[in-house]
Amino acid sequence: MSKKKIVIIEDEPDILEVLSYNLKREGFDVFTATNGTLGLSLAEKVSPDLLLLDLMLPGLDGIEICSSIKNNPATQSTLIIMVTAKGEESDIVLGLGVGADDYITKPFSPKELVARVKAVLRRGQLVDTVPTTEKVRVGDLAIDTSKYEVTIGGKEVRLTATEFRLLHYLASNPGRVFSREQLLSRAMGDDVVVVDRNIDVHIRGIRKKMDMDPPLIETIRGVGYRLRDLA
Ligand code: CA
Repeated sequence: MSKKKIVIIEDEPDILEVLSYNLKREGFDVFTATNGTLGLSLAEKVSPDLLLLDLMLPGLDGIEICSSIKNNPATQSTLIIMVTAKGEESDIVLGLGVGADDYITKPFSPKELVARVKAVLRRGQLVDTVPTTEKVRVGDLAIDTSKYEVTIGGKEVRLTATEFRLLHYLASNPGRVFSREQLLSRAMGDDVVVVDRNIDVHIRGIRKKMDMDPPLIETIRGVGYRLRDLA
């Protein structure tokens, strides 16, 4: 199996060193850049499996780079993890809006970083091989779109049409964080009537009916929601 390629764009040398060292030790092929402009051309040249992208960078910033890579057919399959500082929640929402696959907040341990990188790579493969499946399973949760049925541990949960679509979308991308805007446009689509457009209300409805503690759908403060990855 060929080594997975990772590009890191990070302007703080100490952090770059730690990231690079730990990912190389895990057997990844690592390429690095310390400013946005060089980083973007490096990512375009290398076409990595995954990009670790700092937000605040000299030259182009992380949002511009993310948007550029996800809008370029040659590089759009590159998975992107944004590296953010505490208090940059609004930037996280922006980043997810332009296609980032996940984010990690500084400070983080090398162990946490490696786990996150592997989870995103694993999810990326899932998305590539099964774009929309009729049957989705996450832990005890099973969704069958052909029967329009949701069960937890074999017990049926009755959801509204909107709740069903929302849960199906989240469960098809376990572990991935979505902003409310993303859930509205991707999970609900255009045919949802205006009164239905309050994501929080639907999430509350789903949680109540699923009655799981802790809830399967987590609130990510200031950002949005994700379904816990139980794999
Ligand atoms: Ca920085």
